[in-house]
Amino acid sequence: MRTPFSMFGLCLLLAACGTAPAVLPPVPESSAASQASSMQQPRTEGWIAPLDRAAERVTKKPFGIHVTPQDSPVQPERFTGYHTGMDLELLPGETPHDVTVHAACTGEVVAAQRVSGYGGVVVQRCTWNGEPVTALYGHLALDRVTVSPGQTLQSGDAIGVLGTAYSTETDGERAHLHFAIHHGAAVEYKGYVSTQSTLGAWVDPATVITSGGS
Ligand SMILES: [Zn+2]
Repeated sequence: MRTPFSMFGLCLLLAACGTAPAVLPPVPESSAASQASSMQQPRTEGWIAPLDRAAERVTKKPFGIHVTPQDSPVQPERFTGYHTGMDLELLPGETPHDVTVHAACTGEVVAAQRVSGYGGVVVQRCTWNGEPVTALYGHLALDRVTVSPGQTLQSGDAIGVLGTAYSTETDGERAHLHFAIHHGAAVEYKGYVSTQSTLGAWVDPATVITSGGS
């Protein structure tokens, strides 16, 4: 069992985070093939957490948790299945519109729209370990989203703010960020899947934003 937030702890010790998300060093490439591809395009690793103090925020639904309306840590619960993302919660004293969501990676915005189950959603196409992935940011206040499809974001750029709890901005959910990373370039909105094997199409965000991909 890894310790998923060790880098955040280090970051806090070094007092290097402040209000900005932690930027982690890129992982050296090893194979000749990946070196060749990195010469053709800029490095697109360098993932960060989309919210500051991320380690403190994962208190209800980490990646991969199986929930039902009966046993979910969030009540009431309308979903059943394995959670495809990581939920980052509000901290005491925060209001949703004051919580800035940052691009976790460098890449193009491919969607910024309202989606059932999420309210406002932004999806970004990025690279992790040399492979295409999409990063999904769910439950945003769509009318405060500041990015558009076709726009390339740098890791750390502001995307918008969290949606107000139990409103159309969150599609009736509490205020939080659902952050998911899906393998491949195609956009996938599923927040839950019914089998653990299907969950393999997603990456545990804790491994990406703490290791930079390794
Ligand atoms: Zn979620």
